[in-house]
Amino acid sequence: MQLIPQYKWRNWNDNLACTADLYRPRGLHELREAVRQAGRKGRIRPLGNSCSWSPLVPTRGSLIDLGQLRGMHETSYDGAPAIRVEAGATVRDLVQFTQARGLTLITPTIFQDISVGGAIAVAAHGTGLRTSTMSDEVVAMTLVDARGEVHHLSAADGPLFDAARCSLGALGVVHDVTMRCWPEFHLHVEDRMIAVDDVLGGLPDLLATYEFVELYWFPFTETMWCKLMRRTEEPDAGATLADRLKFAFTYACTFASCNGVLPLLGRVAPELTPAFMQLAPRLSMTPGCAVAPASRAFHYQRAYPRCWDMSYGVPLADAEPAWRRTIGLIEHLARAASFPVNMVVHARFIGPSAALLAPAHGRAICDLEVVTTRSARDADVFYEQWSAEMLAIAGARPHWGKYLLHPRAVRERYPQMDAFLAHRAALDPRGLFLNDWLEDAVFQLRP
Ligand SMILES: Cc1cc2nc3c(=O)[nH]c(=O)nc-3n(C[C@H](O)[C@H](O)[C@H](O)COP(=O)(O)OP(=O)(O)OC[C@H]3O[C@@H](n4cnc5c(N)ncnc54)[C@H](O)[C@@H]3O)c2cc1C
Repeated sequence: MQLIPQYKWRNWNDNLACTADLYRPRGLHELREAVRQAGRKGRIRPLGNSCSWSPLVPTRGSLIDLGQLRGMHETSYDGAPAIRVEAGATVRDLVQFTQARGLTLITPTIFQDISVGGAIAVAAHGTGLRTSTMSDEVVAMTLVDARGEVHHLSAADGPLFDAARCSLGALGVVHDVTMRCWPEFHLHVEDRMIAVDDVLGGLPDLLATYEFVELYWFPFTETMWCKLMRRTEEPDAGATLADRLKFAFTYACTFASCNGVLPLLGRVAPELTPAFMQLAPRLSMTPGCAVAPASRAFHYQRAYPRCWDMSYGVPLADAEPAWRRTIGLIEHLARAASFPVNMVVHARFIGPSAALLAPAHGRAICDLEVVTTRSARDADVFYEQWSAEMLAIAGARPHWGKYLLHPRAVRERYPQMDAFLAHRAALDPRGLFLNDWLEDAVFQLRP
């Protein structure tokens, strides 16, 4: 097993760092040994692809990097297709593996560079009210506890399994999960610009008509980009040359805007943000309809600049007020000549989750995220005020992996938190799988 002493770890967005011994196991046996060795020295954090903004990973103990564990094979669950995948595989690995076998995942993240272990740990998701998060697609898992013992968990383990399906890496290290898959189906995809009031006023109808809905609002514009997808029997016409050119054009524009123009604007001329935002929809999407296999339709986005991203899941009934509070805040700050949001506000819709600590636990949610460049002036002020606006909604819960302020306000929003902590204490009585942030702010285990 590879061990890198005093490894200098930084996260994807470069807002977090720590120095820790890094273990790189290559199989279950080495993973158990890594937990035992690291556990003798102090605390342990499992590590995926370091894409989280919140301080889930930084530790004064050791890191166990799952990056060498990326194997997968096809299996079945209850007669339906499933994939057993090791936790270090990326969502991209998994998407490619399923695509090649005529299968698709439901609710995968759009961004594919995150690891399966990291996605499950925070109940990551795509969109779709008929299903829920990636954690809810997990039907079995292999978990190594603080003593290095192996647990094979499934629905038969009841609430313990629902604790492990979104554990924030605080129950042990997940070695592999078995995820349900679906025979590939086709989606009819409509990209439309619709007036903001029509979208928000007609949300129930939109959600009843389309199985998969995503909404994008570029600040200071009057319309929303609506990505509306429903299943169809129509054949995949394949991408025409015109489609490929359109895709290349929007990709180039998004890449240049996100990596060049917007960061510069945010730093030197934020007052030009409203004007640039009028162009943003035209540069980011082309209205139209297409038929595509689901696994291709879900992964339409390619350009991912480093950015700030905060996201809250609000009960479905609060989706419209949450949107209006968000738009209202951005416009209110603009009247005071402050333009902290220069990328996009994005909404997805997710069904109730069984995972005890999933933001969607127990009810369907609208996941609303606000994304801005790292250089945007007053982004910290905006996120402070937006957190207050979202926390004023009784059932709102933040995404665990995104930028997260006020973690102490979160515990009381999870009715199953005590049950989760009881399972945690049973598997890890010495608190090896904690860091200071989880222990003090999130779980509030120290007075
Ligand atoms: C550009 C971008 C786009 C994103 N898009 C989406 C999206 O569409 N939907 C969404 O829901 N989220 C999204 N996210 C957030 C992302 O899903 C989470 O931050 C996720 O946890 C990152 O996974 P990771 O592999 O980088 O894990 P890390 O950030 O390395 O770790 C996150 C947590 O997972 C734990 N963990 C990792 N591996 C294991 C394991 N094997 N066993 C136990 N615990 C483990 C860690 O201990 C930590 O607590 C996005 C993030 C980025 C940067």
